[in-house]
Amino acid sequence: MSRLDKIRQVLQKEGLEALVVTQPENRRYLSGFTGSAGALLISAEVARIFVDFRYIEQTKMQAPEFKLIREDRTQALHKEFANTLATSLRELGLRRVGFESEHLPVHQHIAWQETLPGVELVPTTSLVDDLRAVKDSGELELIRKAAALTDESYQHLHSALRPGLSEREASWAAESFMRTHGAEGVAFEFLIQAGPHGALPHWTASEEPIRNGAPLIIDMGARLNGYHSDLTRTLFLGNSNSQFQKIYDIVRKAQETALQGIHSGMKGGEADSLARKIIEEAGYGEFFGHGLGHGVGLAIHEKPWIRRGSEDVLRPGMLITVEPGIYLPGWGGVRIEDLALVVEDGLEVLSMSSKDPWRK
Ligand code: ZN
Ligand code: ZN
Repeated sequence: MSRLDKIRQVLQKEGLEALVVTQPENRRYLSGFTGSAGALLISAEVARIFVDFRYIEQTKMQAPEFKLIREDRTQALHKEFANTLATSLRELGLRRVGFESEHLPVHQHIAWQETLPGVELVPTTSLVDDLRAVKDSGELELIRKAAALTDESYQHLHSALRPGLSEREASWAAESFMRTHGAEGVAFEFLIQAGPHGALPHWTASEEPIRNGAPLIIDMGARLNGYHSDLTRTLFLGNSNSQFQKIYDIVRKAQETALQGIHSGMKGGEADSLARKIIEEAGYGEFFGHGLGHGVGLAIHEKPWIRRGSEDVLRPGMLITVEPGIYLPGWGGVRIEDLALVVEDGLEVLSMSSKDPWRK
């Protein structure tokens, strides 16, 4: 079944006459259009794409299944799209229309309400995101390639690491390798967190040098034709350290337990608890403050969510990360992250990088 057919089935189930898609990855997923602006209107009968002058030729190439409507750019900025949409809805007689409530700014919503009298605007969440969660074979192939390239780039960084190298230099060593070996770009700004920086979850990379005798978190990924990969390894520069060995062993055990235990049919919250239990029993529950993992695809973080309370049910064909961590303020952190495919009887791990943390 085509992606358009699938979303039309969803619309029918939801009792919607049409859906307006504004979220960039959803727009790309359904239409093939990779531009950074524009919207889709999908009903049982029609598939339209609204773009402005900049994207006319690109849309013809990338989204041939969609009828191209050029946005009316004579109106005030926030009214442009509302007016274009109003014209189409009137022409097609569509009255009960869904929109993506997580991706429509309030001022746009107000403009739509003013411009579309008689149209019932229905907020929706995750209608397309849920379809995106299960990957087809073409998507899997791209993510496998992105994961393999990420492993290679990590290997390159691993051999280039030395004390005195700054976090930013280390980040660039991995990024430049990745970009010259086939990546379209990086999946996100790499996190290179030496020593205490490892306990600051949003730290990216600084001028500070990487030193011996401290943990080092490396979180990186590649982007290929819009698809992402995600990998974290933690290293220790030095010969031995009992504190590090202790924390690393707990995180490793938590990850192994989750990789062995996660299977299709399980909820995201149940998957999370497999690893969380190990860390809690070791006495470090309060230092594992994020979810166990997330889906990966056209977005680096997407459905399904593997975290406490997640009702997302794991299905074969979903791609998830498994990434437990322990973060101790003032000392640093340990996180180990693999990318894995949900298969009938468990997980197939795509990340191949070594988990030997000792870097002498
Ligand atoms: Zn990551
Ligand atoms: Zn991740």
